[in-house]
Amino acid sequence: MKELKAKFQKQTGSNIATDFTNSSYEKWLETELIQYQKKENYYKREFLKEVANELHSAEKKHPKYPKCDFKKLAILSEEAGEVAKAVLHYHYENGSLEDIKTELTQTAAMCMRMYNSLL
Ligand SMILES: [Mg+2]
Repeated sequence: MKELKAKFQKQTGSNIATDFTNSSYEKWLETELIQYQKKENYYKREFLKEVANELHSAEKKHPKYPKCDFKKLAILSEEAGEVAKAVLHYHYENGSLEDIKTELTQTAAMCMRMYNSLL
């Protein structure tokens, strides 16, 4: 319950009462959170935030970025291949949706890095 409240507050930015402990309140909170997450802008905003964080980490971890477009494409393709692998694991080997999201984020970050390098 405490984790759900924290998640709700973090994602919605709204302050909610913390002295409720009954299960109907918990259900209400879960429903509100799901409805909030379903809003299109929430996903766009969260995804772009994740991509920006991932790009920042990648640039810090690998400050040297190739000048050759084919090498850039190889890096990007390697990440896209990891999306495929995560999807296969999810469907056939008990993988998680979180792993797919992580790989999609990393792929998008590499798209952004390559795009920026062309400017
Ligand atoms: Mg990856």
